[in-house]
Amino acid sequence: MKEANPFYSSPEWKKLRLEALARDNYECVWCREEGKLSNKVNAVLEVDHILELDDYPEHALDLDNLRTLCKACHNKRHGRFQFREKDRKKIAFREDEWWG
Ligand SMILES: [Zn+2]
Repeated sequence: MKEANPFYSSPEWKKLRLEALARDNYECVWCREEGKLSNKVNAVLEVDHILELDDYPEHALDLDNLRTLCKACHNKRHGRFQFREKDRKKIAFREDEWWG
C-alpha cells in the first residue's frame, strides 16, 4: 500500500506537499483543466507524484514532479495501468496543441 511508505510521513514530504498545494492554489489541477473547481471546500485534496514514487524515487522531493489532485482524480489516476498510458499520451498531445 502506498500509504504504508515511510516517505509519506517524512518531514521533508510534509513540507513539500504544502508547497505543492499552495502553488496549485489548493485546487485539483485536472478538474481545473476541465473548468471545474475542486478545492478543499468541496473535495479532499491529495498531492500526486507525476513520475511515480516507486519508479522514480530520485524525483520524490522535486516540486515540479508534484501536482494537486482531488481524491476522485487521484483514484482515477492510480486505478489502472491503462489509464496511466492514456494520461501520458494526453499530456504529450496537449503540449503539441499548446505550442504547435
Ligand atoms: Zn479532480
